[in-house]
Amino acid sequence: MKTAIKDLKALDQKYVWHPFTQMRDWTDEEILVIDRAEDCYLIDTEDRRYIDGVSSLWCNVHGHQIKKINQAVKDQLDKVAHSTFLGLSNVPAVLLAKKLIQSAPRGLARVFYSDSGSEAMEIALKMAYQYWQVRKNPRPKKNKFVHLELAYHGDTIGSVSVGGIDLFHQVYKPLLFETYSAFSPYCYRCKFGLKKESCKRECFQELEHLVAKHHEELVAIVVEPLVQGAAGMIDQPSGYLTKIRELADRYDVLLICDEVATGFGRTGTMFACDQESVTPDIMAVAKGITGGYLPLAATLVKEKIYEAFLGDYGEFKAFFHGHTYTANPLACAAALANLEIFEEDKTLETLQPKIALMKHRLEKIRALKHVGDVRQVGFMAGIELVRDKSTKKPYDLTEKRGIGVCKRARKYGVIMRPLGNVIVLMPPLGIAENLLEELLNVTEKCIREETESSGHC
Ligand SMILES: *Cc1c(COP(=O)(O)O)cnc(C)c1O
Repeated sequence: MKTAIKDLKALDQKYVWHPFTQMRDWTDEEILVIDRAEDCYLIDTEDRRYIDGVSSLWCNVHGHQIKKINQAVKDQLDKVAHSTFLGLSNVPAVLLAKKLIQSAPRGLARVFYSDSGSEAMEIALKMAYQYWQVRKNPRPKKNKFVHLELAYHGDTIGSVSVGGIDLFHQVYKPLLFETYSAFSPYCYRCKFGLKKESCKRECFQELEHLVAKHHEELVAIVVEPLVQGAAGMIDQPSGYLTKIRELADRYDVLLICDEVATGFGRTGTMFACDQESVTPDIMAVAKGITGGYLPLAATLVKEKIYEAFLGDYGEFKAFFHGHTYTANPLACAAALANLEIFEEDKTLETLQPKIALMKHRLEKIRALKHVGDVRQVGFMAGIELVRDKSTKKPYDLTEKRGIGVCKRARKYGVIMRPLGNVIVLMPPLGIAENLLEELLNVTEKCIREETESSGHC
């Protein structure tokens, strides 16, 4: 057994290239090979158990090895694993589409499937652009998008074009299409030096000016509703999303909401948009859709978007997009079971006290010497570490403080992954309260060890 584990690590190092990873740092000590999972624990090949502190990168919902989802996938496997969705349909994909529309913000009417969040966004951008070209009163000049700084919408070229995280995106700049970028409401580091409680949403006014000036050429406003996840859990002041919806309506620009991270209960409601009763024209979902089981994504649109693509065959108005595995039946079956559990187990109801518990514990963490800001939207939280709390001076990224905290957490049986200097907490919605407390205790302990002691581990 032991040699087998060593072999696996050696094989990984010999053959594999991991995503978003500096492979030079991929040492023996660093590699952890997951063998199986149970409830909210991941278990490695050496039988060590770890709390899944970031929901296997923000996608796991009810936990691992959920009986109902396991069974749904097995049952589907005994019928058909895959058949194409180009010119054919399949049972779970149809049923899931209905269920998605029933749970989505009112007014979204059609589901277009894909395989990842990036692709769901790529589709949203293509659809939005094409909508203005093919609709009854075409607006051919509309060919630009406006998005927020620090946005993350995926890592394909289109989704990177509307992104704004320099660390990930800078190198590809020459390949990207041109966009307008507006300030992001990063209140802790407000560009205007204002306070959230007393500001007049000056950052929003910048977006407003951009849209007012360029609306003739604007296809859509692209936004992560309520919270910019990958930017470091940057939460928007309340009413911000509503203002964006009004702005889009006022200037006849579409609103694309990227609910890839926020969807399926992560913010405490089914979708983040629900909290401001906003219906986007186009909404992208992925991560939590299958409960964290299989790759699947979807782009939901209003009927008016869908209708614009209707026409005689010879008008070639069809939406020419689709991949080999689009609407994979196994993934759709998992997603359907995932959504049924939300109803059967009242997932959103039982989540509320856990959100409160997290909030309470985070206040204690906020008081730590090197914690500059704590941001929480539902069950998504970010803890921003700073070198100097009074001046908000950040740690240099090369100090790898975020990575340092997460490395320490592993020793205490917790898997976490930081975003630069921001420690991310995003456990599965189904986590038990005692486990959630353990996760928060370990987080606090590791932040203290990493930032308050001078010794090295
Ligand atoms: C993760 C994420 C994406 C990309 O999803 P993938 O499935 O990784 O392609 C897009 N938008 C947001 C807001 C995300 O958090």
